[in-house]
Amino acid sequence: MLHRLRLPASTLLTLMLFQSSMPVVAQQAPSTLSTPDDIQKDFASVPCDDKDRLVAVRALYEGAGVAASDIALDQHDNVENLVVVKQGASPERIVIGAHYDKTAEGCGAIDNWTGQVALTHLYRTLKDIPLEKTLVFIAFGREEKGLVGSKAMTRAMSEDQVTQTCAMINIDSLGLGPPQVADNMSSRKLAAFTGELAKELEIPFAHASIGRANSDSSSFVAKKIPAVTIHGLNKDWSRILHSKHDQVAKVNPVSVYLGYRLALAMIVRLDASACEAYRQ
Ligand SMILES: [Zn+2]
Repeated sequence: MLHRLRLPASTLLTLMLFQSSMPVVAQQAPSTLSTPDDIQKDFASVPCDDKDRLVAVRALYEGAGVAASDIALDQHDNVENLVVVKQGASPERIVIGAHYDKTAEGCGAIDNWTGQVALTHLYRTLKDIPLEKTLVFIAFGREEKGLVGSKAMTRAMSEDQVTQTCAMINIDSLGLGPPQVADNMSSRKLAAFTGELAKELEIPFAHASIGRANSDSSSFVAKKIPAVTIHGLNKDWSRILHSKHDQVAKVNPVSVYLGYRLALAMIVRLDASACEAYRQ
């Protein structure tokens, strides 16, 4: 069911401020920018049962313009990741990931259907723009069981693939507040870059580690690949995530939109940077 959300004035102001700086991205990415309304439409039917999630992720990508034949299932012993590649001029690549599984409680709308929606809108915006670097969009399985999908992916990477992976942007749990970087799951230089870019775009932003929580960026950090987790949680997060309260009604589409815009700007900037620019 589609829930109409009343946005507080401060959020609308934020949106206006942000849109005033739209040329920063628009100069470099003159394509189909999604709006908060476009994003909200993808929350009309969130699959609340884990077994329906992968099929629904596939449908989101098809809705974003990916041919069914270009959607691959990367199958490992104990997990399936869904992969969509947008080929660039170079084999150097940027990985953009979000887990599709959920815990047994609640609908997993915030954690992490918001990530799936953000990623498919990023794909939709970038799909017809010629880029230098190859983009790898990936929906990870079984993150909630211990980062199983992202560990399977990074374990299978050759040394060349590690070297050619310039950065990894992980989106996990937008929808409650402005975008933030979880420093405890991110590499320092890329996290700092994310904050600088948010400032440039006039997007409200903070560095906010999430307790003892973890996410798929950590699998890449462990391989010394620059990686960040962007979330959009607020002070209520611990009462919502992994509980019956993680429902579509909790999702603020402007939060998802701001996360999408920040990740979009990151991709555009990373594409124009040297691959080693954010290694440390
Ligand atoms: Zn999550």
